[in-house]
Amino acid sequence: MLNRSTHNVVLPTETIIIISDLLVAMTIEHVLHMAKGGGETSYAKNSWLQRRALLETTPLLDKAVKEVYMALSHPTMTVCDLGCSSSENTLFFVSKVIEAVCCHRRELGASTKVELQFFLSDLPVNDFNHLFLSLKGFKESMAVGHEGDTLPPFYITGLPGSCYRRLFPDKSVHLFHSSYSLHWRSQFLDGLEGNPNEGNIYIAKNTPPYVVKLYQELFQKDFLLFLKLRYEELVFGGQMLLIFLGRKNEDAYSGELNLVYGLLAKSIQFLVEEGLVGKEKLDSFNLPIYGPSVDEVKTVVKQSELFDINKIELFEHNWDPYDYSKSDHVDDPLQSGMNVAKCLRAVMEPLFGRHFGESVLDALFDKYAHNVAEHLEREKTKYSIIVLSLKKG
Ligand code: SAH
Repeated sequence: MLNRSTHNVVLPTETIIIISDLLVAMTIEHVLHMAKGGGETSYAKNSWLQRRALLETTPLLDKAVKEVYMALSHPTMTVCDLGCSSSENTLFFVSKVIEAVCCHRRELGASTKVELQFFLSDLPVNDFNHLFLSLKGFKESMAVGHEGDTLPPFYITGLPGSCYRRLFPDKSVHLFHSSYSLHWRSQFLDGLEGNPNEGNIYIAKNTPPYVVKLYQELFQKDFLLFLKLRYEELVFGGQMLLIFLGRKNEDAYSGELNLVYGLLAKSIQFLVEEGLVGKEKLDSFNLPIYGPSVDEVKTVVKQSELFDINKIELFEHNWDPYDYSKSDHVDDPLQSGMNVAKCLRAVMEPLFGRHFGESVLDALFDKYAHNVAEHLEREKTKYSIIVLSLKKG
């Protein structure tokens, strides 16, 4: 997004300080968030795609919670959702953990007291307030929904910070969870002089191999760091359930995300042709996202020598979050195009608004809905999602 090219210009010290402040201010950590609030285009109202991943992985979560509960040597179980965002998805996760503990206690006939401490963590610009405002309703609905059950006492707190930094003291967390977050990179691609990925916003057919390599290396570096940090924070026997976008194919040029973001780049190209966006804006933008293959993920976990893999697998969901059909045919491409665009807009709007200008967002996502519809008419495509369950051995 930002080209850090060094020109041969001698700047006064004050200017250098201001520029370096700007660089800091523009890091992902300080700008990334999903669409805030609870309005029509908010993430809170448009996160069904992500909810489906939580529904799909509930059995694995259940298993992890039970194992962690069994190994508990402390009356408080500490659980953290990394990349919680501002929708009720994170509270759905919280409810599943509480239910799993409840159910397991009942099975064991256990009378030992356990309390649950939840940390909902995301970058500081996340709309934590929106989330906090839904806590009262959540607690009430938990009490009503589980009448007769003695729910373990639970406490929920917000934790601002990047998952690529230390967040907790040593050996203090029992379970980490993260869904639809770890495909986000810790920074924008560095070292891209002269816009080599011109016309694209992600890996495309004409992306130079060295740019692909930069994406891959950044993923490896980020993920390795993430594993090391969480290892330090987890208690012995602690677990992690990580769910993120990936790709089915080994070839980084033919991932499912390449298609999704390829159509988005095509929509921006249209705005460039219309004179609504400067070409330089498109050429200099590279999404700080990478969807790895299962093998790429396994390689980093093995390289870390820190965790045992309980399970790693890939599942698929249709692009349209409301399309549950298994057929190869999209019934209503126009409607599906709009659903896909709404869902992606809730994720990308703040970042894209900042780079391309808020005023072009309606035109951009209208065009995108149209491009997706056209694509789905020809070919039904899916997201590939990787789920990884790890244990600190
Ligand atoms: N887990 C939620 C939200 C997914 S959206 C759900 O399933 O609905 C992805 C979230 O990851 C965003 O809120 C984004 O701010 C967060 N995120 C991205 N990079 C992050 C980082 N380095 N540290 C913490 N959170 C991050």
